[in-house]
Amino acid sequence: MMKAESSGRRILLIEDERKIADFIRRGLTLEGYQVQVAYDGESGLDAAVEQKPDLIILDIMLPAIDGIEVCKALRDAGLDMPILMLTARDAVRDRVAGLDAGADDYLVKPFAFDELLARIRALLRRRAAAEEEILQFADLTLHPATREVTRGGRRIELTAREFDVLETFMRHPRQVLTREQLYERIWGYDFSGESNIIEVYIRYLRAKLEANGEPRLIHTVRGVGYVLREA
Ligand code: CA
Repeated sequence: MMKAESSGRRILLIEDERKIADFIRRGLTLEGYQVQVAYDGESGLDAAVEQKPDLIILDIMLPAIDGIEVCKALRDAGLDMPILMLTARDAVRDRVAGLDAGADDYLVKPFAFDELLARIRALLRRRAAAEEEILQFADLTLHPATREVTRGGRRIELTAREFDVLETFMRHPRQVLTREQLYERIWGYDFSGESNIIEVYIRYLRAKLEANGEPRLIHTVRGVGYVLREA
């Protein structure tokens, strides 16, 4: 195990069972991580918001606010560090709920410590790679980690939703996306077929992307949806 990879990385552990928390904290500290422990969901949330750790290990079974609620609250607060859930129960429902709540991975108790280490390393590596990712199409660039968008070097300010819509297109260039697909990917639930919200966001995006008279990149495919392609 290369300690250089872990050194100085800050991990917040939210776990109410002291024995397990101590065991994990000791092991991770030996590996070179800086570990902070919170013994309930509420103080875990506070610690996460204040400290912004590099990674959170979150037990699902917590008193008062459970791990699922904590995870949702963290994501709602805009915190996007990797979250590794721990669950004592080998219940598919828990794992699905955890992933739906915004967790990146989960581990079922009891687990081998080496497996915990491997999951942590993988999540931190994935995060490092994601931070360097830049999407490009024509003269558009989009940096998912910093949420910066430029066109021909011109910085474009987008709202969170506009950014999400554009990112979806840039991950599927030259592919026709239906309104349903866009709706499901961005809003995450079934499309009712009545809302014109997609049209509204496409209009906003076009206005910003074409503010200097640049050629259109998001095209309407009549009766189907939209596609990102060169004119
Ligand atoms: Ca617990």
